[in-house]
Amino acid sequence: MSTRTVYVGAHVSAAGGVNNAPANAAAIGATAFALFTRNQRRWTAKPLDVETVSAFHEAMAQYGFTGDQVIPHASYLVNLGSPSEETREKSITGLADELSRTVELGLRWLNFHPGTSKGELTEDETLRRIADGMDRVLGQVEGGVLVLENTAGQGASMGRSISHLARILEYVREPDRVAVCIDTCHAFAAGYDIRTAPGWDALIAEVEREVGLDKLVALHLNDSTGELGSTKDRHRPIGEGEIGTAGFRAILEDSRVDGRPMVLETPEPERWAEEIALLKGFAGVAG
Ligand SMILES: [Zn+2]
Ligand SMILES: [Zn+2]
Repeated sequence: MSTRTVYVGAHVSAAGGVNNAPANAAAIGATAFALFTRNQRRWTAKPLDVETVSAFHEAMAQYGFTGDQVIPHASYLVNLGSPSEETREKSITGLADELSRTVELGLRWLNFHPGTSKGELTEDETLRRIADGMDRVLGQVEGGVLVLENTAGQGASMGRSISHLARILEYVREPDRVAVCIDTCHAFAAGYDIRTAPGWDALIAEVEREVGLDKLVALHLNDSTGELGSTKDRHRPIGEGEIGTAGFRAILEDSRVDGRPMVLETPEPERWAEEIALLKGFAGVAG
């Protein structure tokens, strides 16, 4: 039997309340999950009520999840690099609210996309603007860690290289409250060839060199519709895209990423159970 700690799951529905997410994850054999803590298409939401928070804690215990296995995902509306002051202010307020919710739910990490100035600022100015926005978010919330996700590079989005994430980490005031998440589809679309074990090793070596492996706290496991370097953010079920099975086998065989939530955001939820079982099989861990 394997003694590895491998957490694999999916970004599950929180429809009807965040307290429903643990059951939705358990139903597909997940040992990790992501969720939205509020409607991701709106800027504002009513606060979490006490009953929902305690029901979430109960469900976490009932289905055997700890905070180490869960990483909420922030709204896609958030853009801390936005050249529009209005959008940026809404992003800061919204992300701070999402980080507060994360902490209220007894969780630590909140995953978000760094953002883009849509080419209106230089790359370095944009990275500094994002870092400054993160400082303001962290200054408004006690506790919690903002987790930067790498991106496919679509629309001049920041985070297409690990060095972008490293520079943001360098610019923020509280680097201890900032970490990173690697999305496999985004990495591949941004030009990281992770179709083979050596390709995955090269990416992990870059993460280790640029930010340190301790800063890598989660992975998004998605195959890619777009080709290597296409900058297209289009997810596919595991093994059916351009990355393919060998790439995911290499990731799951790599014990350096043990203990981090690895979360599917693939487009066919009815197949998540099957995809999770496949990935657990690669890692050699039982269902
Ligand atoms: Zn992702
Ligand atoms: Zn994506």
